[in-house]
Amino acid sequence: MTQKVAIVGGGMVGATVAYYLSKLPGNTQQEVTLYDDGTGQATKAAAGIISPWLSKRRNKRWYELAKAGADLLPQLAREANLSNAVYQQTGTIITRSNDADLESLYQLAQNRRQDAPQMGTVSQLTSEEVSQMIPLLHQPHPGILVSGGARIDGAQYTESLLKIAQTKNLKVKNEKVSLNSDGNIVTARGTVKFDRVIVATGGWLKQTLEPLGIEADIRPQKGQLIELSVKNYEDHQVMPVLMPEGERDFIPFGNGSLIVGATHEDENGFNLEQTSEAKKDLFASAKAMVPELTIDKITGMRVGTRGYSSDFAPFFGPVPFFRKVLVAGGLGSSGLTTGPIIGKLLAGSIIFGGEPDWSNYEKELDIYLKRL
Ligand SMILES: Cc1cc2nc3c(=O)[nH]c(=O)nc-3n(C[C@H](O)[C@H](O)[C@H](O)COP(=O)(O)OP(=O)(O)OC[C@H]3O[C@@H](n4cnc5c(N)ncnc54)[C@H](O)[C@@H]3O)c2cc1C
Repeated sequence: MTQKVAIVGGGMVGATVAYYLSKLPGNTQQEVTLYDDGTGQATKAAAGIISPWLSKRRNKRWYELAKAGADLLPQLAREANLSNAVYQQTGTIITRSNDADLESLYQLAQNRRQDAPQMGTVSQLTSEEVSQMIPLLHQPHPGILVSGGARIDGAQYTESLLKIAQTKNLKVKNEKVSLNSDGNIVTARGTVKFDRVIVATGGWLKQTLEPLGIEADIRPQKGQLIELSVKNYEDHQVMPVLMPEGERDFIPFGNGSLIVGATHEDENGFNLEQTSEAKKDLFASAKAMVPELTIDKITGMRVGTRGYSSDFAPFFGPVPFFRKVLVAGGLGSSGLTTGPIIGKLLAGSIIFGGEPDWSNYEKELDIYLKRL
């Protein structure tokens, strides 16, 4: 019997779920509708770094999930035939001003690499070697290169996957919807019944689940970044991503564009305004690394809303007391990395059923979802 599945939210998670629901064996039994408002989507606004291995976060489950996500992406990119403009293992360089910090990062990288072969090679780089790899930079600090690190364009990723799924069993509706108390979908035209509903509404998860009598532990955070034109570096098609100290990362795309970001604005939650303060602040970070930049090289700004849980950890799976509905939330600032694996696991559980054990990757869901 055909199973009617709805996905609410077409970001990293929703698009990946749709893709795997169209690909995994058994997909002919699914009829899938994805509803996406699109406003404020974190995935479209995101910077694009896939490099979780040197994170100092102590949350082991998060690390296992992010590692699995970074591992899945190259396979998915091959299988879905994603171009280098969408996903590419360019390598990531993490720089530090202090030799002792750099050495401890290198030790961490060597240790982590033992059970993460997807990191590729790990090497120490002098300031000159960093400049050779990213010729934009002026006197960078020395760093560690992780060759398996990657960059991804979230907007193109979701577009590519949804296009593939639409040739199979997916219909996409670009509209805002809500749930009713039975977990069905309420559109402007009426209520539509589904057998399973996956809620992947990012920063909006709390609002989406309210009609079910559920309070989700999610708060929104605004993030802004700037896009710059660095046309004179167009020939350098493959430059690694740079993660210097602090929160500002540099993502050079081979088409002569450079992304610098991002802000983390807790107080501005759902606000989607591009602000001149953020523009100035991000530009100052860019100019400190690339002195020749002038303000007119800014070609655009992006703004998106991240969703965080109280312990900064992602959570996903069937709602314990409402199993028709599955959720994914709390992906925070690393959801380009964790979103694909979460999407694949959710799609697998819809198709194959059962009670998957994801305790390696997350805590119990009732920590994050309470009855109102
Ligand atoms: C500036 C910035 C930089 C970032 N950089 C990185 C990075 O370098 N690396 C990394 O790993 N992660 C990064 N992230 C984090 C990452 O982008 C997010 O964690 C991830 O994209 C979240 O995916 P999602 O599918 O959960 O949510 P989203 O991508 O936010 O998608 C949710 C979708 O649901 C839609 N929606 C909401 N309510 C409704 C409704 N009622 N009806 C229909 N649709 C609805 C929204 O409009 C949206 O399109 C960054 C985020 C930001 C904002």
